[in-house]
Amino acid sequence: MATTETGAAVAPGRLFIGGEWVDAASGKTFDTVNPATGEVLTHVAEGDAEDVDRAVRAARAAFDEGKWSGMDARKRGKILYAIADRLEARADELARLETLDNGKPVREARMFDVEGAIECFRYYAGWADKIDGDVIPVPGPYLNYTRREPIGVCGQIIPWNYPLQMAAWKVAPALACGNTVVLKPAEQTPLTALELARCCAEAGLPAGVLNVVTGFGETAGAALVKHPDVDKIAFTGSTAVGKIIQREAAGTLKRVSLELGGKSPNIVLADADVEAAVRGATSAIFYNTGQACTAGSRLLVEEGVRDELVEKLVKRAGSMRPGNPLDPKCRMGPLVSQEQLDRVMGYIESGRSEGAELVYGGDRPEGDGKGFFLNPTIFDRVKPEMTIAREEIFGPVLAVTTFKDLDEAIEIGNRSEYGLAAAVWTRDVAKAHRAAAALRAGTVWINMYHTLDTASPFGGYKQSGYGRELGKHALDLYTQVKSVWVNLA
Ligand code: NAP
Ligand code: MG
Repeated sequence: MATTETGAAVAPGRLFIGGEWVDAASGKTFDTVNPATGEVLTHVAEGDAEDVDRAVRAARAAFDEGKWSGMDARKRGKILYAIADRLEARADELARLETLDNGKPVREARMFDVEGAIECFRYYAGWADKIDGDVIPVPGPYLNYTRREPIGVCGQIIPWNYPLQMAAWKVAPALACGNTVVLKPAEQTPLTALELARCCAEAGLPAGVLNVVTGFGETAGAALVKHPDVDKIAFTGSTAVGKIIQREAAGTLKRVSLELGGKSPNIVLADADVEAAVRGATSAIFYNTGQACTAGSRLLVEEGVRDELVEKLVKRAGSMRPGNPLDPKCRMGPLVSQEQLDRVMGYIESGRSEGAELVYGGDRPEGDGKGFFLNPTIFDRVKPEMTIAREEIFGPVLAVTTFKDLDEAIEIGNRSEYGLAAAVWTRDVAKAHRAAAALRAGTVWINMYHTLDTASPFGGYKQSGYGRELGKHALDLYTQVKSVWVNLA
């Protein structure tokens, strides 16, 4: 067991298949790193195609035996509530583990990531016995009714930015609907998904219903997408990988749902409450060190308030010092990896060379150089065609662009291949709702940013993906409808 500089001991991770903790068939492992120090936290099993096949067979057998889908729906709900209780009992420990593996501030890991996962299991626990069908008034002497049935074995592939929460968003609704699951967490952050599996087993989830295979996307992930016995793939991650997954899933015509990247416009009109807009714009881009698919990475400002807004933003960014994420007072942690830090630095360089004006940050904080820290960064006078205004950076880098009126703001806002989220700040209720209707995005916030809830649908327009997670909409992702005809003549 490795002991980190911070004194934390993190046990190595194994695969969870058919209710058992096992090594990869190859015996291989890979390291997971603490982004705040750059040191190795521990190692986990490197599952590949052979392990994925084992996990899919376990999930298939559990599904076909009906030990989960055939279970009384209320009992299924009870087990999901018990999973939430297990997560809650271990909440502080899980938050700490998430922080060690991902680098996010521990206070946020506890308040949002772990709390969100608990709520997600409770919410879908409540749905388990409410997934019903319809009786349809058809002509003729017939009874026609529908049944909402689970899809079968679901392969779920998740990213590193909200590791436990993404696992919960995927696993909870799939289980509530009676499916079985093979989950592949991101290689950078495999640890809390394994603890989720432990909580599920302790809560009485039957063996084989949830399997977790840690490993790499190109091997374990790809094998899951191609496997003929997987009925559905749910993916959250980059648009580039989403396209590969859709292509690869075509061979077996699996159901696919995709939650991909974003380049969300955050629009501030001149009549807005500027103080509130500054606070909102700051958390929109710097929350989770900008590693959020909904990050408000394009700040579009009406010309009249630009100077005031940028000045206040710079001041606020100056108060956000990246630091040790295990410190309960920390508000900004490091980026997840050296690779991500290099990528983001590359974008900062492109902003400079393409002529945007760097008004804050752009460099790394002073210190011992350990960890993948970067200062909050703001570019002003960004033109919509510049790289930093078009591509998802996934780091704490804000691009500020001005507009003349609402129509232009909407036109620039929609000038993106992405359509995940958008926000508008104004005191004019008509303008607010006009913008909400005109912005081509799956989520629109008015005078707020980043708020999500388990009960409200979430997903993308355009190349930000399709399918809606959360809320009752997620039930559509994890069920299929059967029409049953009865001859009454
Ligand atoms: P990614 O490559 O899309 O990874 C997401 C998940 O897909 C990971 O579990 C990954 O495995 C897996 N994967 C990768 N290639 C695969 C393949 N060919 N077949 C099946 N699964 C595959 O995202 P990333 O590398 O973590 O980050 C790259 C960029 O994606 C980010 O910088 C950001 O732009 C975007 N991103 C978006 C979100 C979002 O919430 N929308 C979240 C994270 C990242 P491994 O990690 O083990 O390789
Ligand atoms: Mg890690």
